[in-house]
Amino acid sequence: MSLLVVGSVAFDSMESPYGMVDRVVGGAATYFAVAASFFAHVSIVAIVGDDFTERDAEIFRGRHIDTEGLERAPGRTFFWAGRYSENLNERVTLATELNVFADFKPRLPEKYRNSKYVFLANIAPELQRSVLHQVKGKPKLAALDTMNYWIERSNAELRETLRHVDILMINDSEARELSNEHNLLRAAKHIFKMGPSTLVVKRGEHGAMMVDKNGVFCIPAFPLEEPHDPTGAGDSFAGGFMGYLAGAGQTSDAALRRAMVYGSVLGSFAVERFGLERLTALKRGEIHARARHFAKLTQFKL
Ligand code: AMP
Repeated sequence: MSLLVVGSVAFDSMESPYGMVDRVVGGAATYFAVAASFFAHVSIVAIVGDDFTERDAEIFRGRHIDTEGLERAPGRTFFWAGRYSENLNERVTLATELNVFADFKPRLPEKYRNSKYVFLANIAPELQRSVLHQVKGKPKLAALDTMNYWIERSNAELRETLRHVDILMINDSEARELSNEHNLLRAAKHIFKMGPSTLVVKRGEHGAMMVDKNGVFCIPAFPLEEPHDPTGAGDSFAGGFMGYLAGAGQTSDAALRRAMVYGSVLGSFAVERFGLERLTALKRGEIHARARHFAKLTQFKL
């Protein structure tokens, strides 16, 4: 089934105790699309500047990723820079330059409009909403990611967009900030009143938690000895999660739980190397092997 994503395609510069990279291809939609393309055909809606070369665009080639909706405009590509703490748990954003995204008016190619699974990756909430409105009919599943940058700068816009989505997929501090609730179960109740019926909370090295009408489901993060760069872990989680559901064409509770596992699997691979290095070298067999490893990790008898 078709899976549509709107979000940033970017140049990123990151520093962690394991090294640094300068102006590598990144962006929420890029991580998402690469991760999801292992399971489903992905259509990408984004904008890049004239500094984004054909060579940069090669990251999408040879995968199940349609880039007809990747617009090119005069100007510079979205740029983000960040630095991670010694334990990789804290991140300081050093730069966020919207550049060509500042005037982006997403227009969906006709063939994207029948998408049944939609992921609104982290980008201005009004752009997320505009994409959702261009999809014909109601998608089978629409999920949204956002971050403190938008919660603080575009709160009213974000709340309006949230009314139209099924799943909100954010990290724990964002869930707390959005709901003004410290406890995540109370935060979920609060967020359900805003529109989504499912909350997926990404908790970094502590795994992820899904809350919906069926209750709570938790999954650990895959234990890694040497993670290098957490950038894009959340977007890769979302790619594994939504990609699995779109590929399976399902939204049942059992499928959502498996999607949490595939989300964690893709997120864990993403952090093993800088930027998209590990995801772009990944093989399907490795994904399934790690999913089986997850089943073992969490198995016990009573
Ligand atoms: P994550 O580590 O999951 O928060 O995602 C990091 C990716 O999101 C990087 O590749 C950035 O280019 C992108 N990003 C960072 N800040 C923003 C923002 N305000 N809007 C859109 N994308 C962003």
